Amino acid sequence: MTEPCFPLLGLSRHRIGIDGAGVTTLVAGADCPLSCAYCINKNLLCQAPKQVLPQELFDRVKVDDLYFRATNGGLCFGGGESLLHLDFIEALRPLCPGWHLTAETSLHVPPETARRAMTLFDDFIVDVKSTDPAVYRRYTGCDPEAAYENLRLYAQTLDPARILVRVPIIPGYQDEAARDRCVQTLRAWGVRGEIDAFSYVVPKEVQP
Ligand code: SF4
Repeated sequence: MTEPCFPLLGLSRHRIGIDGAGVTTLVAGADCPLSCAYCINKNLLCQAPKQVLPQELFDRVKVDDLYFRATNGGLCFGGGESLLHLDFIEALRPLCPGWHLTAETSLHVPPETARRAMTLFDDFIVDVKSTDPAVYRRYTGCDPEAAYENLRLYAQTLDPARILVRVPIIPGYQDEAARDRCVQTLRAWGVRGEIDAFSYVVPKEVQP
């Protein structure tokens, strides 16, 4: 059977307090089903990624093994949609015991993918964009139902300590009052853990 590869766009080491607990290395991957208007990764996502095998990725990030173990940190998979690469994560896991594996995700994936991811990642950072379907459609170009359903499943099933939900003010799409209504909706959906209510800073190159 062919070993699964990961479409690696880049690594960012020694991140603290951004991508989950402890010291983390961000593993940025290609591929994303959404088309967010202010995507800061658009240019990156268009580049040809380097396909790496689990052992190859491990060899590139193991230099920080001591930091990961000492701080309860590890790897955070982001960039594009991390849940698109579950075969790779499954093959990588046994190589790095003691490391936390975190997924940055929109949860815009089929329900069976979301369920499987719960068994492969330790923690999740969910960028929900908006709980208002009209805003979600306009901003991402996609229907929100799958992401909403998956988020309700996570909120009601996972230990709240394993999931951080991020919901932003999105200039031109979602103001502060609308963002705060999203926070209320998230609580009504069963989100008991931390909600990071923040504001997008729109990069110059994607400003309307
Ligand atoms: S989910 Fe993230 S990577 Fe995907 S289009 Fe939106 S901002 Fe870009």
